[in-house]
Amino acid sequence: MKAILHASQLVTLAGPERARVGSELSDVGIIRHGGMLIDDGVVLETGPSDVIEKKLPADTEVIDAAGRVVLPGFVDAHTHLVFAGNRVDEFELRARGASYEEIAAKGGGIRSTVRKTRAATDDDLQQRTLKHANWFLECGTTTVEAKSGYGLSLNDELRILRTVREVGKQTPLELVPTFLGAHAIPEEFADAPERYVAVVINEMLPAVAAGRLAEYCDIFCERGYFDIETSRRILSAAKQHRLNLRMHVDQLTNSGGAALAAELKAATADHLEQTEDDGIAALKQAGVQPVLLPASVYALGKTRYPRARAMIDAGLAIVLATDFNPGSSPTPSLPMVFSLAVTQMKMTPAEALTAATINAAYSLERGAEIGSLEAGKSANFAIFDCEDFREIACYFGIPQTHSVYVRGERVFAR
Ligand SMILES: [Zn+2]
Repeated sequence: MKAILHASQLVTLAGPERARVGSELSDVGIIRHGGMLIDDGVVLETGPSDVIEKKLPADTEVIDAAGRVVLPGFVDAHTHLVFAGNRVDEFELRARGASYEEIAAKGGGIRSTVRKTRAATDDDLQQRTLKHANWFLECGTTTVEAKSGYGLSLNDELRILRTVREVGKQTPLELVPTFLGAHAIPEEFADAPERYVAVVINEMLPAVAAGRLAEYCDIFCERGYFDIETSRRILSAAKQHRLNLRMHVDQLTNSGGAALAAELKAATADHLEQTEDDGIAALKQAGVQPVLLPASVYALGKTRYPRARAMIDAGLAIVLATDFNPGSSPTPSLPMVFSLAVTQMKMTPAEALTAATINAAYSLERGAEIGSLEAGKSANFAIFDCEDFREIACYFGIPQTHSVYVRGERVFAR
């Protein structure tokens, strides 16, 4: 038996057993001077610290939060965890005036990371991925969705998904695999994109499904990548293989991607920077969760953020994620995303926290196990060195994580 005592705020996110909408996003279930009882990695009970303290069996291991904030481990529902190399040259080129689209047109962008990832040895790729996994843990994140998409050949895509599986055994970070073979058209198919689409549908999807290597299928639905009609074909094939859908839509242009996500009943529609009222209404109608990625807007030096307030007003079960990748969103930090959500999208700190914990968990079909600190759920939590959880969004650029626990075991301490 373990117990946490003396949290200035134990932020439980307790509430209805579904993703939160509207005013529910603001109710994060704070227990002041809180405590929590943990047995065998599972939350047994939460309550005032003095009440919990009176119930402790003699041999209980006590973790003294000493007036700090305790939160559920963050759930990051959109990451590109596995890649080799970096894109710092492009980072500098953008500062010198080049746009993301111009860099991609010259063979940079996703294709440059594909070249480096293909060239990496299995061991290199695993070590890099473990390093990324540790970054997430350091930021207070205990579960991430991890996409493939930097292989873009049958063998390289399968290798990335196997890396997710292998690294998942080595890190306490929980990984949820997503197949993103339709991330870009690889160089060798530049003149025959249709042939690459056929490879995705006829070779990659059957192999991913047969190896049970992914829970979801994703696509970069965007002008110059995969248009609406092609996206519909690939994703319909994915559904035949019993993969659920997540989609990159309406990031650079409003191409009707949100409407397609609604039509296909995707679990999530991600990005949505260019989505207007009709797309928002379609997502609401179909029960699709929006995953907003403000760090990608920030890192590309753009100013048009997704319309979070309109989505909340429409009753959408909003999710926030990092979009961690080497090019457009090189951050594993959900605290940084909270800062952007509050300052740039006018979400409240409570709404941001709900979006990256319980709502993200439901978007990954794990709402019954993680995302809140309630009896019966995994004891995944992070202790932050502050007195009020809103400080995590307010003070940006400084790590406030004190320690992180997965299933009751400490996996990081500063
Ligand atoms: Zn992405």
